[in-house]
Amino acid sequence: MNELILKPKKEKSLLRRHPWVYDTAVGRIVGRPAAGETVAVRAHDGRFLAWAAYSPQSTLRARCWSFNEADSIDAAWIEEKLAQAIAARQPLRSRTSAIRLVFGEADGLPGVIADQYGDWVVVQLQSAGAEAYREAIGASLMKLTNAKGVFERSDAATRRREGLDLRTGVLTGAEPPEAIEVVEDGVKYGVDVRLGHKTGFYIDQRESRLAAQQAAEEFRRRHGRGLRALNCFCYTGGFSLALLKGGAQKVVSVDSSKEALAMAAANAERNGFEPERSEWRCADVFDALREYREAGETFDLVILDPPKFASSHYHVDRAARAYKDINLNGLRLLAPGGELFTFSCSGAIDVDLFQKIIAGAVIDAHVNAWAVGRFGGGADHPLLMTYPEGEYLKGLRLLLRP
Ligand code: SAH
Repeated sequence: MNELILKPKKEKSLLRRHPWVYDTAVGRIVGRPAAGETVAVRAHDGRFLAWAAYSPQSTLRARCWSFNEADSIDAAWIEEKLAQAIAARQPLRSRTSAIRLVFGEADGLPGVIADQYGDWVVVQLQSAGAEAYREAIGASLMKLTNAKGVFERSDAATRRREGLDLRTGVLTGAEPPEAIEVVEDGVKYGVDVRLGHKTGFYIDQRESRLAAQQAAEEFRRRHGRGLRALNCFCYTGGFSLALLKGGAQKVVSVDSSKEALAMAAANAERNGFEPERSEWRCADVFDALREYREAGETFDLVILDPPKFASSHYHVDRAARAYKDINLNGLRLLAPGGELFTFSCSGAIDVDLFQKIIAGAVIDAHVNAWAVGRFGGGADHPLLMTYPEGEYLKGLRLLLRP
């Protein structure tokens, strides 16, 4: 049996059931485990700590499958974990056909991401251990979801750190169509699982999209007219469509990707929204915000959902300046009583720091603002309390006060 024996005192995080073993914690290796093979992780004194998948090239030398010595890790064990993860998402099915079925470490399946879009499942395998069970995962997901096919988007650059090549294509079953239609809270979205970001759609913004839809409804009730909104970094129109569904009068959406904007416009058409209520603008958001300000434009609602500005702790300062810049300029565009929905998906910027950055923007904008809501991933992106790294998405809803 292959074993990783940790250096003295390096067992602490595993005793707290954190699932990662860093290369620097490993004292010695017994046997010759291959990439992805299961090893027993033991403390310096030989005590059993966990079953883990070995990854010889990664600084995350092993990721734990189980902390229970009685478990035996095989395809049946993986299928049981997948079944548990899928069952936990059941309550979401009444609202949406776009669901994250498996959220890696949070579901006890490190490196395994699986998203369902209607009759299709898209997987992303991000670790040597996940890769070792690739075919078993595909077969189990077909069986457990009755999907027509499982498509693989194992193209995240992080795979290279695990010594894995990037791979995209059908894993099992049929080819998915060019655009898969999903319905979330009454809004239809087309999802391109081949070329779209992540696995095709920002499933993690479901609760924020619903809040945007409700904000538009509330505005119409209170003011007797639809709100005017600016959706920055709109991608395929997630927030824009939610606002239109809620009765917004006009939504201006900005993104630098022509392809994303084309898909967004097609999504608006899919829902039958009148074309004159949407404007799709291809531009750099940093520039567009300044131009709107110079032109004296104002909006009742501004949404800022940028890409990850900080890819690691090394980039936090630069990223903080970028977040501050867009938030300051976004706040300056708000009409009296207006609202800002602002987000960060940078794991390296935690909830506290994000709040400080936004407070800095409020101070510089010389406005008075309340935070009236906080956002994060939905119930299908649970935060495993022993794995705080899983919390990456955060958002604030600000309301301008007199
Ligand atoms: N809000 C979206 C997800 C945003 S993803 C949703 O809910 O679906 C980030 C988007 O920002 C991508 O579509 C990318 O094309 C765009 N983007 C990145 N940098 C940009 C920039 N400087 N200006 C405009 N768009 C940008």
